[in-house]
Amino acid sequence: MLAGCGRKLLLSLAGSMLTCFLVLMVDQPRGPGRGLGPGGGGGGGLLLQPFRRPGAQGLLRRLRSGAPAGQGAGEEVRSFSGYFGQLSRGKRDAGGGGGGSASPAGGQPPPPPPAREAISPRDIFIAVKTTKKFHKARLELLLDTWISRHKEMTYIFTDGEDQELKQRIGNIINTNCSAAHSRQALSCKMAVEYDKFIESGRKWFCHVDDDNYVNVRMLVKLLSSYAHTQDIYIGKPSLDRPIQATERISENKMHPVHFWFATGGAGFCISRGLALKMTPWASGGHFMSTAEKIRLPDDCTIGYIIESVLGVKLIRSNLFHSHLENLHQVPKSEIHNQVTLSYGMFENKRNSIHMKGAFSVEEDPSRFRSIHCLLYPDTPWCPLNVVY
Ligand code: UDP
Ligand code: MN
Repeated sequence: MLAGCGRKLLLSLAGSMLTCFLVLMVDQPRGPGRGLGPGGGGGGGLLLQPFRRPGAQGLLRRLRSGAPAGQGAGEEVRSFSGYFGQLSRGKRDAGGGGGGSASPAGGQPPPPPPAREAISPRDIFIAVKTTKKFHKARLELLLDTWISRHKEMTYIFTDGEDQELKQRIGNIINTNCSAAHSRQALSCKMAVEYDKFIESGRKWFCHVDDDNYVNVRMLVKLLSSYAHTQDIYIGKPSLDRPIQATERISENKMHPVHFWFATGGAGFCISRGLALKMTPWASGGHFMSTAEKIRLPDDCTIGYIIESVLGVKLIRSNLFHSHLENLHQVPKSEIHNQVTLSYGMFENKRNSIHMKGAFSVEEDPSRFRSIHCLLYPDTPWCPLNVVY
């Protein structure tokens, strides 16, 4: 996996995760519009620096402790103004609400509240990434649960024809990308997701995996805290510090870049305003070539385009959850407030939301059916009178 990234690339992958997990030293920030991309004239691709600090261990420590990403990120870091800027944003946003509730620091007046815009589900484009072998194993569960309530906003991106599936949901896009779990295949799907979103004219692009439960009510509420014309990139990093990569400018000249990215396995959203600015690096075949230049997975490439090329910062929200965090730590009383949930493996153990719920763990190992009954108790197959 990730062969071809070369000796200089150290990827710390948790299990089989093909999600960008680089953790490296930070360096000076880059201005908007620099570097890669069709118009950027950035020359060669990026090479990633070797780890200088124990990234994987740090990640696992954070995951074990349940601390939000960003906490403690500065412990071992030397002074870089851009980095501290990111840290203060991290602190501000670490509460997870995404509403930008900054507290005055150092006598500075708090920034003005962000522009808000009431939206409805039809303003959001949710892209679900899947693959043919998971149509039955994973997608059916989503179709039975959250997608059943939100078919109009949900688009399935897969790699094989499935007539049965087409009868259940109209918005199925066969990307014709390879069905392999390779970096290229996943970037190929992300590229199609992006293009379809642009074509849709909707206000918000959200990407999720086929092991995510989306709580659309909370998603709408979260995105209503912003205006779709603002530059908004919101999600949850799986690392506790930015990735550093090195851009090869010429044969002997390297240029370091660092950026945060939202992990694809937790889901993330991008406003239309920002998505349009990404066009030169993300539309048509450009996403694939950008991904190739940095030789990182799809979610990382998104972070690279937004943070490093366009100079827009990730807004971190603890309301997004991947199975790279200990899902047992989501309190039962808070489940209904989360935007995304997941299930899967974590440190070689099964990982899912811990709740009593309508169904037993044997009947409902992902807990998604129980979560769905908690959120939509009027669902016909949900048992009546369950005490949650
Ligand atoms: N996936 C894919 N092609 C594959 C394997 C996986 O498109 O060959 C998708 C899968 O449907 C899911 C995402 O990639 O939406 C992540 O896959 P998975 O959860 O199996 O791996 P993780 O990276 O979370 O460990
Ligand atoms: Mn997964």
